[in-house]
Amino acid sequence: MSDKKYRILISNRGEIAIRIARSVRELKWIPLGVYTHLDKRSLHRKYVDEDYEISSYLEIDEIIEAALELGADAIHPGYGFLSENPEFAKRVVKAGLVFIGPSPETMELAGDKARAKEAAGNAGVPTLPWSIVEDPCDVVDFAREHGYPVLLKAVGGGGGMGIRVISSDSDVESLFEQASREAEAAFGDSRLYVEKYLDSPKHVEVQILGDGERVIHLFERDCSIQRRHQKLVEEAPAPILSRSERKAITSDAVKLMEYIGYVNAGTVEFLFDPRTRRHYFIEINARLQVEHPVTEMVTGVDIVKQQLLIALEGGMSLRQSDVGINGHAVEVRVNAENPLTMMPSPGVIEDYIEPSGPGIRVDSGVCYGSAVPSEYNPLISKVIAWASTRDEALSRLKRALSEYVIAGVETNILLLRSILEHPVFQKGIHTTKFLDMYMHEITYSMREWERIHALALAVVSLRSVNGFQSMIPRIPVSSEHGSHRFRAIRRRAWVYWSMLRSRVGRRSRTR
Ligand code: ADP
Ligand code: ADP
Ligand code: MG
Repeated sequence: MSDKKYRILISNRGEIAIRIARSVRELKWIPLGVYTHLDKRSLHRKYVDEDYEISSYLEIDEIIEAALELGADAIHPGYGFLSENPEFAKRVVKAGLVFIGPSPETMELAGDKARAKEAAGNAGVPTLPWSIVEDPCDVVDFAREHGYPVLLKAVGGGGGMGIRVISSDSDVESLFEQASREAEAAFGDSRLYVEKYLDSPKHVEVQILGDGERVIHLFERDCSIQRRHQKLVEEAPAPILSRSERKAITSDAVKLMEYIGYVNAGTVEFLFDPRTRRHYFIEINARLQVEHPVTEMVTGVDIVKQQLLIALEGGMSLRQSDVGINGHAVEVRVNAENPLTMMPSPGVIEDYIEPSGPGIRVDSGVCYGSAVPSEYNPLISKVIAWASTRDEALSRLKRALSEYVIAGVETNILLLRSILEHPVFQKGIHTTKFLDMYMHEITYSMREWERIHALALAVVSLRSVNGFQSMIPRIPVSSEHGSHRFRAIRRRAWVYWSMLRSRVGRRSRTR
């Protein structure tokens, strides 16, 4: 490594901007930032040495201006926003800066799902039967050959958008119209393709690093818990793969990325059919992913640091033989959203106690008083638990979520806890259909927690009104079942009580 103190502009916000700044600082380099008017008071600004106001995280011109103004050497795009935009990468290079990611040509290939599938086919990596479709008739022809259901997807798609499942001829016309309209609006590209639909697959993806000389893998993640085709819970390694299945899927990922000459960090996504035990390539994500921490926890590799070193120092010191799996890691995405409807719940965070303790990592973008604006993704934080076994990691994660206090916005914590407690998830046999299949059970379990919260609030109110300091410990405990519940109430009541007290305290001080 050279002694150069590179200046890295992070063209992103929230938890990922902070995550990237941390690795930049560990390398003794200088993190620089951008922020919009809405983010004037955002936490990510506190993690960079200097920053620059822009009107939007999508404004290429302004971001390049910010980089030049702040004397940056390179730009890290994070995920989302411009991270998969080849035009942005080209402009960064044209401005004499380094883009921390793959080449624009690779980004173009990965962003065109049809080209990526062709590449996979040429590299000898299995795909599901698929075909570009120009009109509804093409879809019907494809279904004649391969049978329903089929999946209609946008060639330029991403983020689970523009995906439609078609189960009969009669749905083709209307779903085709909808999908192409949505694709045009979201990606400026109305091209669609169909693919054979797998009924209950697992989503398994392989983390890759490449430096132009060689490509290595950092094993796989299972991201099968999804809502609206978006990931909610991720883990590493995948719980049900055998040693030989793991070997097959990771070597296919390496084969494809070698074939396209991939440089920097990227992910190869597959669907794995638990019945036939076969895997099929679905797409390449040519960027850092939200769920990268689970891989970091089990391999001990700082993926962001590797990205920075590959882009700025040219090579990768890591060899495949240096990388192994140690233990198990599970991540949940804590979103500001209603746990039942899963609709965003923007607002201001009024109380905030983050979990920690053995094996817990929290990658968060907020603190007490932070705003969760409706204009951006409602991700509050990612809670990641590591332990030597999957069972222990799950216990740790549940323990951490029970410590997490977030007031002022609704969160999906109850949904996450109910998922973690579900026997199908605990066995590791869950598929992408999990939430569709078990939503009624999950909802029931969430309602139980809600009742506990309501009772806790009632107890706290009584206690503060009457000043009965000893009332909570004196709640009568009858049955075994009851005693667990009441312990939960008592503990939660204590949290509410301290929150209430601190608020009363603040108020009286300001008066
Ligand atoms: P995106 O670019 O939106 O991430 P993907 O192609 O990665 O699109 O698919 C997203 C999710 O949609 C997958 O993780 C999986 O749950 C579901 N999916 C995609 N293709 C299929 C398929 N052929 N059969 C069943 N489910 C699929
Ligand atoms: P336990 O006794 O096991 O901690 P809880 O009753 O605390 O069970 O479980 C409730 C969960 O809901 C906790 O994980 C907590 O973080 C979360 N939660 C949801 N909304 C709130 C809120 N407004 N204040 C505090 N915790 C909340
Ligand atoms: Mg995907």
